[in-house]
Amino acid sequence: MPYVITSQCIGTMDKSCVDECPVDCIYEGDKKLYINPFECIDCGACEPACPTNAIWQDRRVPEGEEAHVQDNKDFFELTLLGREGPIGNAGGSQMVGAIGVDTELVRGL
Ligand code: SF4
Ligand code: SF4
Repeated sequence: MPYVITSQCIGTMDKSCVDECPVDCIYEGDKKLYINPFECIDCGACEPACPTNAIWQDRRVPEGEEAHVQDNKDFFELTLLGREGPIGNAGGSQMVGAIGVDTELVRGL
């Protein structure tokens, strides 16, 4: 069960979670960050580091935030605006740097 980042990240993006992740699977969009569900090892280390309670296990997201379970996945599997192909499993956010664009769902928030 991977962890996901919900809408509470928007407007904060302090990246405290990134420093805690042992596999560097938290990637930076424009307004929020996203966890790659295929690279996440479900360790939970990022969750207590988040000042806005934005990070949840996918089966425990708060009411109203359910769409972010699929949306974290979409960030990696769909082709984001202005990009030539999906990010996929990039092997670490340090490798690719800030992506700088969000999913359609988050762009509309
Ligand atoms: S649960 Fe662990 S592996 Fe998954 S994003 Fe958080 S710190 Fe990284
Ligand atoms: S710690 Fe929370 S608010 Fe900060 S960047 Fe990570 S998910 Fe967003």
